[in-house]
This record gives sequence, structure tokens and C-alpha cells, in this order.
Amino acid sequence: MSITSTDLLAALGVPATAYTGGSLTVRSPIDGAVIGAVTEASGAAMTDAVARAHTAFLAWRQVPAPKRGELVRLFGEELRAHKANLARLVSLEAGKVTSEGEGEVQEMIDICDFAVGLSRQLHGLTIASERPGHRMMEQYLPLGVVGIISAFNFPVAVWAWNSALALVCGDTCVWKPSEKTPLTALATQALFNKAVARYAGAPDHLSQVVIGGAAVGEALVDDSRVALVSATGSTRMGRAVGPRVAARFGRCLLELGGNNAIIVTPSADLDLAVRGILFGAYGTAGQRCTTTRRVIAHESIHDELVQRLERARAQLKIGSPIEAGNLIGPLIDKAAFDAMQSALAAAREQGGEVTGGERALASRYPEAWYAVPALVRMPAQTEVVRQETFAPILYTLKYKTLDEAIALQNDVPQGLSSAIFTNDIREAETFVSATGSDCGIANVNIGTSGAEIGGAFGGEKETGGGRESGSDAWKAYMRRTTNTVNYSRELPLAQGVKFDV
Ligand code: NAD
Repeated sequence: MSITSTDLLAALGVPATAYTGGSLTVRSPIDGAVIGAVTEASGAAMTDAVARAHTAFLAWRQVPAPKRGELVRLFGEELRAHKANLARLVSLEAGKVTSEGEGEVQEMIDICDFAVGLSRQLHGLTIASERPGHRMMEQYLPLGVVGIISAFNFPVAVWAWNSALALVCGDTCVWKPSEKTPLTALATQALFNKAVARYAGAPDHLSQVVIGGAAVGEALVDDSRVALVSATGSTRMGRAVGPRVAARFGRCLLELGGNNAIIVTPSADLDLAVRGILFGAYGTAGQRCTTTRRVIAHESIHDELVQRLERARAQLKIGSPIEAGNLIGPLIDKAAFDAMQSALAAAREQGGEVTGGERALASRYPEAWYAVPALVRMPAQTEVVRQETFAPILYTLKYKTLDEAIALQNDVPQGLSSAIFTNDIREAETFVSATGSDCGIANVNIGTSGAEIGGAFGGEKETGGGRESGSDAWKAYMRRTTNTVNYSRELPLAQGVKFDV
């Protein structure tokens, strides 16, 4: 008998009352079956949660950072112990194939490890003072309550990227997960609670989950006690959230849509390029922010590359993500399938030659939305190509000169991820230079998706400008103070100003 979401939730420590009897119906995209009925919070409940988080912050900020790291270390242990079950729940609720569900939980474990090390490295600078007997330094201090809004397609990893850093930085978290994936959020919260139970002296409500849709998110966004709003989702959502946070002078970290391209040059290793493009375009059924949506290939190799992609595309196995061998799972819902069909219709109207894109497995799963990955040869970068359609559609374009390829790559509103496949060092270096890709991520001989947590993750333009995860992204979760300490018996003013009576 196959393991059900109820078994998984019980094994992960979520009480049945948390996912039964509520008004928000949760369906598995695998077959459309109802797997939960969760209670939606009100805006007032969100406000209460923020108040509790703020009280917790006042205590947590006083705990030494390496001791805060110890809690994140324990949480990482819980994730290791429960990886298979949480990953399976991600597959059931978000439709990810097994290895990608496991990869998502591994990413949570990796960021915990990173944050534990970071908890001993939250450093500022010591800066030379112009005045004798003075020392100048900067410190990074805990910021406050961090509000985390996450998207359905990384239902748990995005929260971990934010919360692991926020917690070691001395902040507390309030999480509003996607209304499409509340069960994995409840399970993650249960694992976090297990870690807290093993940690002596943690204040209550260090991290809370509040379930609901945009209205509940807005209550979080508008609360002036939330020092940082880290919001992941569509550009439409970011356009609503960004100005609201700015209006109250809050801090915002936006991780929004992408429209990622791969340039393939004449010297490229086509075997590598085909593999990189295939996973980038069709992995996670095209539902990653870093999904490869455009291939810009040199005219001398375009047709050969597209033929090879076409052959590989036709072999991708579509089916239940929890059955071994399937690589393409379902779209999240009917709206996603309809958006894919509209984009393909627009592409045809704009001169595109479409293969694939039809509904798959409709008789086996009448309540689910599987789609054949689509490949579309476009005559030019038309309007539909410049939009993000969150589905497995790959547009191919031809170029003559590298300058033209880079201009095409950059001529979209989004700026998340990009890549070039080339064996020519001049082309590679140009692509990652100031005159190359304008994205937050620019790769050479690697696809656009599947970033490691060690680097800062995020993008420019309509992607929102935020950076999360590795490198110095932690600085967004702290407030910086500059301190000048006078240990002399004089009081010289800066810039030589005299003010003596
Ligand atoms: P979405 O914008 O529909 O929803 C994302 C989250 O925002 C949900 O929790 C939703 O409830 C909330 N929300 C929506 N409107 C809101 C409002 N006015 N105020 C507060 N909260 C609001 O996105 P989705 O369909 O869940 O996810 C797909 C999108 O997310 C794609 O565009 C994808 O590129 C993007 N994404 C980006 C990244 C990144 O790191 N850049 C990562 C994952 C997904």
C-alpha cells in the first residue's frame, strides 16, 4: 500500500486537527485528490502572530549568535532524520519528482549547515579613524521580525533560506506560505518545533506559520513591526508588496519571476548544452523561477541543437512524480495549464512553430493537469517570449553575432538567471563581464537552474533585486551600526570643525 499524506503528516508530527475541517481545500496536483482542509487565518490572527514574534525577538536578540546557531544545527538534524518523509510530502503537495523533492529538503539542510557556521562569523569592519585616540567600527545587530512570503514551487526551501539566516542573525520569523502548499509548511513547522523542544531556553514563537492567501499576506506586509519582508513569487505580487513596504519605510527582499536564457555558441559542447537545456527547461515541469525559457543559438548550430533537443524532449517520461522513471510531473493546477495553452496560442500567432504542449494523461488523471513539454521555434523575440509563463515551454531563437545574442538575452523585463555554453574564453568572459548578461546569475557551461546555496541568489529588474541564501546575503537580516569610540581625553570634532566657547 502506498504511503499517504496523512501517514506522512503524522510521521512528521502534525496533528490531524491542523489539516482537517478547515475551509481551505488542499489538492494534490498528482491526481487532484483532496489531501487536506486547512483553517485559514484572519488578518487579525496575523497581527497577533507578529506581536508574539516581536516579543520573542526582544529575548532572542540577547542570545549570543553561536548559541542561536545551535538551534539551527538541531533543526538541521531534524531535517536529516525526516528528509524522506518531508520530501515525499513535497512531491504529493507540489508535484515534484522524487529526486527534486529530496533535493529541496537537502537544500534546507545545506542552508542550516551554512547558517550554523555563519553564526560565528557575523562580522563588521574596524575602520581607521581620522581622530587621535579614537576607534571606529561597525557592528551587525539583530533586525527584528522577518516576514516570509513563499511561492508554491519551492514550498519549503525558500522559507529555510530565509529563516536559517534570520534565526542566527537574532531575528524571529512569521511565515505565510503559498495557499497552494500549506501542508508542507505545517510539517516544516512541526520539525522546527521538535528542534526547539530539544534546545534549552528558546523563547516561544521564534518562528510561526500563518496560513492564508493574499489578504493574510497583506496584513503581514503592512505591519510596521515587521522589519523585513522577504517575498518570493510572481512579479505581480512583488508590484503589490514592494510599494506597501516602502510606504512604511520597511525593508523588502523581493525574489520574483524570471525569464532565463541560455546562449549556445558555435564552439559549445553540444552534448553538455543539450543536457543543461533539457533539465533547465523541463525539470520541475518548467515551474522553477530559474527555468530555462529561451535558447539563443548561433545560426550555424541552431538547427542541429534544436533537432537534438526535440529528440530528447520526445523521450521525457511524463507521469506521477512519485513513480520511478518519470521526469515530468504535473502542473500545479488547471490555471497553470490554461496559461500554458494561452502562451502557445500567442506564440503561434506571433509566428512560432510549436511541438508538444498538449494535455497528457487526461484519462488516467482527469482531475490533474499534466502537459507535454513544448518546444517553440520563434522567428524573433516577440511579446509572448518576453513574458514568464510558468510552464514547460522552451522558445528557440537564432543569432549571428555574440553582441546580438547578449542583447536578446538582456532584452526582457526580468533578470534572474542566464547561461552561455561555449569553449571560447573570450565569449565566456564577455558574457560574465559588465557588457554581458544583466542577470543576478550568469553561468558558463552550466544551465540556468539548480543554484548552490553558497552563492547569493536573486536577480535584477522585475525579478526584484533581492539576494538570499549564501555569500553576504545575511546582511539583509541585520541592522548595521557605525560606532566611534573616543578613548582619549580630548574631544576633536571630525573634519577639523572648531566649536569652543
Ligand atoms: P504568486 O505570486 O501567485 O504567490 C506567491 C506568494 O505571494 C503566495 O504566498 C501568495 O499568497 C502571496 N501573495 C500574492 N499576492 C499577495 C499580496 N498582494 N500581498 C501579500 N502576499 C501576496 O506566485 P506563485 O504562483 O506561488 O509562484 C510562482 C512565481 O514565483 C513565479 O513567477 C516564479 O518565477 C516566482 N518565484 C521566484 C523565485 C525567486 O527566487 N526569484 C522563487 C520561486 C518562485
